[in-house]
Amino acid sequence: MSARILLVEDEEKLARFVELELVHEGYQVEKSGNGREALEMALAESFDLILLDIMLPGLNGLEVLRRLLKEKEVPVILLTARDAVMDKVSGLDAGAVDYITKPFAIEELLARIRVALKLHMVQPSTEEHKTEEGVLTWGKLRLDEPRHRVTCDRQEIFLTNREFLMLKTLLENQDIVMSRDTLLNRVCGYDFAGETNVVDVYIRYLRSKIDDVFGMKMIHTVRGVGYVIKSEKDSL
Ligand code: CA
Repeated sequence: MSARILLVEDEEKLARFVELELVHEGYQVEKSGNGREALEMALAESFDLILLDIMLPGLNGLEVLRRLLKEKEVPVILLTARDAVMDKVSGLDAGAVDYITKPFAIEELLARIRVALKLHMVQPSTEEHKTEEGVLTWGKLRLDEPRHRVTCDRQEIFLTNREFLMLKTLLENQDIVMSRDTLLNRVCGYDFAGETNVVDVYIRYLRSKIDDVFGMKMIHTVRGVGYVIKSEKDSL
């Protein structure tokens, strides 16, 4: 089945053009030109990807992003103005997977959409395993992927999307040393243009939110290579 995309853009000409291109590529497209309406649609319906303009009537894109990601996990690509550097930074911090600067070449947007969809492919969950499906644990730590929730000792830990993805990748690969490149690809996407030391920054955030708070040593550094979470029997 083709991916379903919500396109949130109030410039009608641009929205119509992007919609035509997306439909031509075989995507199913829903459109909204109002932040408040878009948030309602995104919460009520299931989309595989959201393209989100920042300057919107009703509710601005960053606010839509924050409120949306509090409720559900969905890849969001921001459409930003050329000079809006702070918007990009705040958007990525708030959990957007990528952004593209207007005006953009449609081929570039399509490429970014393909990457985002590939990285965030959701596995259909079966009814009977609904409660424990997608739950990863380490000691008292519990990462519930479908609910996008992390707890330790029943205390909720609030992570950004990228911190969440980083922790999930490490928890899924316990005892396997993950290189900075691999982590970067999983967390930021294959076309991320930054340096791999971004990974160190996210690891530091994770340690300060988890290891430091709960007095444990979960994430180990493997010098010159990357990071590993050792299975709990070796670490506790
Ligand atoms: Ca706009």
